[in-house]
Amino acid sequence: MARKIGSRYTAHQILGRGSAGTVWLGEGPEGPVAVKLLREDLASDQELVGRFVQERTALLSLDHPKVVGVRDLVVDGNDLALVMDLVRGTDLRTRLERERRMAPEAAVAIAADVADGLAAAHAAGIVHRDVKPENILLDMQGPLGPGGSHPALLTDFGIAKLVDTPRRTRATKVIGTPDYLAPEIIEGLPPRAAVDIYALATVLYELLAGFTPFGGGHPGAILRRHVTETVVPLPGIPEELWALILQCLAKAPASRLRATEMAARLREQLPVLAGMPPLDVDEPYGDEEGEDESASAEPAVEAEAGARRGAVPLVTGSAPDSNRDTHTSMRVPGPDELAGGPLGTARAPRSPGRPRPGSARHRVALRRRRVRLSLAGVALAAVVGAGAWFATSADGSDAKPEPSVSATP
Ligand code: ADP
Ligand code: MG
Repeated sequence: MARKIGSRYTAHQILGRGSAGTVWLGEGPEGPVAVKLLREDLASDQELVGRFVQERTALLSLDHPKVVGVRDLVVDGNDLALVMDLVRGTDLRTRLERERRMAPEAAVAIAADVADGLAAAHAAGIVHRDVKPENILLDMQGPLGPGGSHPALLTDFGIAKLVDTPRRTRATKVIGTPDYLAPEIIEGLPPRAAVDIYALATVLYELLAGFTPFGGGHPGAILRRHVTETVVPLPGIPEELWALILQCLAKAPASRLRATEMAARLREQLPVLAGMPPLDVDEPYGDEEGEDESASAEPAVEAEAGARRGAVPLVTGSAPDSNRDTHTSMRVPGPDELAGGPLGTARAPRSPGRPRPGSARHRVALRRRRVRLSLAGVALAAVVGAGAWFATSADGSDAKPEPSVSATP
């Protein structure tokens, strides 16, 4: 089922579907390419098309071996497409879902590749803003690196900025998971390069642990944890690697490493990590594998990730918030459920911070929902408020006057 895209490209088959559109295996004048055809509602948005055209030069200029290159931008009738280098492989989320946890050497090698890509982007003044496993592609045809890892390439540069304007976020709920959001974004500061470092450190933690440091439960709870909680070391993690992760997860953006430093420091650690098996880490909610959902004990659920995190007191000198049984552990309907609209992720529609269906955390969440449904009414107003706040604050910085560029090619 070939499909013409502009005058130069033909799309042959679907490679994958994402939140912003469908990715096709295509053919162009210079050989095979990947073509991301943006969703119809995005492509028909004149304002968004205008911004795409404006960003064209920046998107096309980023040329680095660890970045999935954007080769062309096609605006043709109803089609809006990004023509990219074809990566023959899989995305890091798929790999992580299969392996659950990666050996430290492979995890660090992948993070170092991504840090290289970020360094090139940051040097060019481009902030990615949506670093997460879904946007890291593994090139299965590339040479094997440390720990048997395939080269990792960062994709979707500029997409978050173009698609997630406050207006669009409100209208279509195209917002990402809050698991990777740096605290300064939550506090409304403009996203600078350091937000990508925070997100990459979160990804590295996730590759090692099997879960993100601040994820789980309601999106509002995740946001709060980013701002107020600290992580405690993963069992068995080499000290230097942990120190590096901690530094890149610093609440203060200026305390984080730069991308070049991060890449260099990660690579320095590779020899020590050689041959080390994946860390022996428990699921943050306790290991629920194979447990009958209806016959579970709630107290185990309540223990959740509290043991793995420590609260930062909001007021210096005061006692940290130790009562995790208040607002953070309530399971109430998410803003998406209330609004009835889908929230996109690259893999399956899953709302931010919600566990993947079928996972241990998902079963725990289901159980929690039953137990706490009676609390939902009380929390409803708060949730609506928090949801709306998040939707607007996730990208509040770019509320600049919108250009009105014509969509005709
Ligand atoms: P979105 O960002 O819109 O959610 P993605 O960029 O994650 O969508 O694309 C969806 C899927 O398409 C990916 O998981 C991946 O399998 C595939 N894909 C994306 N870009 C490429 C590419 N350049 N080469 C090969 N496959 C790709
Ligand atoms: Mg993506």
